[in-house]
Amino acid sequence: MDGTQQVKICPKCGSVYINWIAGGLIGAVYKCDDCNYVGPFILEVRARDLEKFRKELKKTSSEPDDATKVD
Ligand SMILES: [Zn+2]
Repeated sequence: MDGTQQVKICPKCGSVYINWIAGGLIGAVYKCDDCNYVGPFILEVRARDLEKFRKELKKTSSEPDDATKVD
């Protein structure tokens, strides 16, 4: 892997454990093993951008809620 290779990842969680489960006339359908996303859309990113992309996903899905913390 040289960092420019494209890897298929889940658009919801960024997992690379994407399985192609159906295809043909209706188009491809993929399933994510990690979050059970099923759909025709997946993302393809360069291998070297994978970690960056996952960090972005984490940032948006688990924001620190310090601002709303009440002691
Ligand atoms: Zn997923």
